Amino acid sequence: MDKKKKKNTRSRKGRRKARREKPAVIGTTGKKPAKAPKVARAVGGGTDPKRVAAILAKLDEAYPAATCELKHENPFQLLISTILSAQCTDVRVNQVTQTLYKKYPNAQAFAYATPSELEQEIRPTGFFRNKTKSIMGASRGIIENFGGQVPKTMEEILTLPGVARKTANVVLGTAYGIASGVVVDTHVIRLSRRLDLTKHEDPKKIEEDLMRAIPKEKWIQFSHQLIWHGRRVCVARKPRCVDCNLESICYSKDKTI
Ligand code: SF4
Repeated sequence: MDKKKKKNTRSRKGRRKARREKPAVIGTTGKKPAKAPKVARAVGGGTDPKRVAAILAKLDEAYPAATCELKHENPFQLLISTILSAQCTDVRVNQVTQTLYKKYPNAQAFAYATPSELEQEIRPTGFFRNKTKSIMGASRGIIENFGGQVPKTMEEILTLPGVARKTANVVLGTAYGIASGVVVDTHVIRLSRRLDLTKHEDPKKIEEDLMRAIPKEKWIQFSHQLIWHGRRVCVARKPRCVDCNLESICYSKDKTI
């Protein structure tokens, strides 16, 4: 009995020693995050205006011509393409719309389409049944309530079926140049958290944080630039920090250098 007790005590001590010697693992990569203070000395941290200005300047430098990558010829086509882009790449949407917009040239054509036909035509973009309902509903709403034109205010555009703030911000910003908010898609969510512009995960709260931190005249361009950066450099699984011009002011735990 005594022998057993002694053995257990020794083993607990051993475990404690091993724990003390084991290096701390932080975050999913097992690396310590880069420290903010070094960066903060120059431009501050989080949404400090100096730091936000530096981020915006660097995005301008890297992506002076960033724009929406969904091909469209008018606000209505951009609305339909944005609905189709949910859970789908812009490249795939552009492939589908190349023929789709020839067959359905306006809101009238989509509003009174044969649902089963339209479903098959947009099938490659995924979630085709729901997207068909949204496209046909939004087209009808545009004809019945807005004289065939995509409305130009957030309040009105949000009355269209299947249109939420992200889609509304894309259309108002890109097609009309109206800054009503910031587009918050999967890239903007990931990057604004990595860049410490928000601590939130909820798109609505992230948008509110970004609208507070970013000057209104930059909302449209900032959304495009962040999406471009998220697709080209600050990718989800292994960000290419070595190629990133924001590296000196980024202290994300996801950094790979
Ligand atoms: S340094 Fe890395 S994590 Fe930070 S913004 Fe650039 S690519 Fe993303």
